[in-house]
Order: sequence, then structure tokens, then C-alpha cells
Amino acid sequence: MTWKTAVVDIPYGGAKGGIGCNPKDLSKSELERLTRVFTQKIHDLIGIHTDVPAPDMGTNAQTMAWILDEYSKFHGHSPAIVTGKPIDLGGSLGREAATGRGVVYATEALLAEHGKSIKDLTFAIQGFGNVGSWVARLIHEKGGKVIAVSDITGAVKNPSGIDIKELLKHKERTGSLKDFNGGDAMDAHELLVHECDVLIPCALGGVLNRENAAEVKAKYIIEAANHPTDPEADEILCKKGVLILPDIYANAGGVTVSYFEWVQNIQGFMWDEEKVNRELKRYMTRGFQNVKNMCKSHDCNLRMGAFTLGVNRVARSTVLRGWEA
Ligand code: NAD
Repeated sequence: MTWKTAVVDIPYGGAKGGIGCNPKDLSKSELERLTRVFTQKIHDLIGIHTDVPAPDMGTNAQTMAWILDEYSKFHGHSPAIVTGKPIDLGGSLGREAATGRGVVYATEALLAEHGKSIKDLTFAIQGFGNVGSWVARLIHEKGGKVIAVSDITGAVKNPSGIDIKELLKHKERTGSLKDFNGGDAMDAHELLVHECDVLIPCALGGVLNRENAAEVKAKYIIEAANHPTDPEADEILCKKGVLILPDIYANAGGVTVSYFEWVQNIQGFMWDEEKVNRELKRYMTRGFQNVKNMCKSHDCNLRMGAFTLGVNRVARSTVLRGWEA
């Protein structure tokens, strides 16, 4: 998170924390109690200028609302203590879609460099949760052909393009991707090596590894998930000439709009959704240009360019504060 927030130039550091459990196995009341007790244990460690939690895998706006409520019992009403909360409690318009939307802006920036656009290409998307479903929806709206989608319940493919709006309705109705009549079922593992132009992993870390990297057919990989490509796979894919847009830039849209939400809470002023999306696009596009400039000046690939940018910014600030060794 530290390098990610530095790449898009927002004034945050970074960390991740969580509870090791499967939320799907818990009732709503169990989830609430677990979240409240977690908050009781950490309320003195977090703070609106210290550490601001945001949702990630397995958590959502409701989780953040419970944290806000529990924290406020100790410290008074503090909307800025969490981001990704419901709009009614001071959440930002556009936050729910932000990571997916940022991934799509990042994809457009990369493709434009190569004289291509979303509507000319085919996409395979792993994961159909918050990030994956928004990526799929926005690519579909922009005329891109989403030819394969998977999640924990299964996978679906359609070489003519999946109607994502219908798939979303099916998922909402049945809770699963299974038995969708707008495509054929496929093995979920096959998705990663499916014939497509752009592969977008939006689920777990480490899904591209030495077992499957050589079989990947995509020309571009957009890392919407955190750390989907392990270092061995990275080497294999780079040798094959696959262009990888790294996670620390590609999925930074979520934390960027978390920052916008925090800014709105601190100012007590709510932006409209158009402004949120416009600013998100500005941050993502500028981030891409800065990564590209690093790649040019250091003659390196996008991952190395993004890390060089992030680490350099943190190093420069550290030196300016007089913390040189
Ligand atoms: P989520 O819990 O909403 O969705 C996860 C999705 O992955 C679900 O559709 C689930 O079915 C699917 N999945 C799980 N195991 C799978 C498997 N073995 N094969 C195929 N699909 C599988 O989570 P999310 O918020 O969408 O996060 C997805 C990824 O994006 C994570 O790596 C997360 O760290 C990263 N990310 C999320 C955000 C955010 O704002 N939500 C921001 C940055 C990065």
C-alpha cells in the first residue's frame, strides 16, 4: 500500500489487516460481533490522521459502518475513520465502483499507448466480486468483448461476448455463475489460460504461477487483484512478451477514491459522482504517464517503473525530513 499510494501520489502510507475467516460461513450477526470486537481491540491504534481502514476482499460497506459505529463509541462521531462506508453515513459516491473503474482507466491508458482501444479487444476476467463485476460491467459498456468470467462458483465463456448485465442479474438471482444460459460452462482454472487479448485477474493472489504461466495466451495482463502474478510467473510472462500492468498501479483506483472520501469527510463537503470519476480518471492517467516516464528513463518494464516511482517518492520525502542514514 505504501508504494501504491506513492505511485498515484496521494498522502497515505499503507498497511493491511484483517481477520482470518470465511465471511460466507458466518451469519450477519456473527460478522457484526466479530467486526465490533476487532474494532474494540484496535480503536486506539487507528485514527483519522493515523490509520484509516478501507474494505477489501470479504468486507463491504456494511463492515465499514460497524467499524465507524464502534469507533465512535470511544472517540465521538468520526466519519473520516473509515472509507468505503455507506453513502448515508458519509461514504463517497463512486467508491464502490472505484477500484474497477480505476482498472478500466488504467487499461485504456495502456492500450492507447499501443494504438488500441477496449472496443477492439477480447477480455477474460477472473473474479466477479466487487472489483471483477465492475471491471466486467464497464468494459462491456465500452464495447469490449468479455468472453470469459469466473468466480468461486464456476466459470462461463462465450466467444461472441457475454452479456454482462444479464450475468449480473443471474448472479444476483442465484448467487452463482452456474447455469447461466448466455454462455457455456467452463473449468474455472482454464480461464487464466483462455484465448483472449486481455486477462484481468480480479480475485486472489498467486493465481499466475510456474504451473500455468507458460500457457497464458493473453497479450496484456491487468493486475486488478493484489499480487496475482508470482515472481516466477512474472519472469516467464515477460520473456513471452506479455505486457503486465502491475497491481500497485492498476488497482490503485480504490485507495484513490478512499482518499477522496476522507477529504470530503474532513471538509464536511460532498462531491457529486461526476467529480469523483473525473478526479479518479485524472489521477489514474497521470499515474500512468509517470510510470511510463520512469520506464523510459530507467529502460525497464512497467512493474519496475511503478516500483521505482513509488520507492523514489517515499525515499525523497524521507531524505527531505532529514532521515538520511
Ligand atoms: P470480493 O470478495 O468482492 O470478490 C472476490 C471474487 O473472487 C469473488 O467473485 C470470488 O468468488 C472470487 N474468487 C475467489 N476465489 C476464486 C477462485 N479460486 N477462482 C475464481 N474466482 C475466485 O473481493 P474484491 O474486493 O473484488 O477484491 C478482489 C481482489 O482485488 C483482491 O485481490 C483484492 O485484494 C483486490 N483489491 C480490491 C480492492 C477493493 O477496493 N475492493 C482494491 C484494491 C485491490
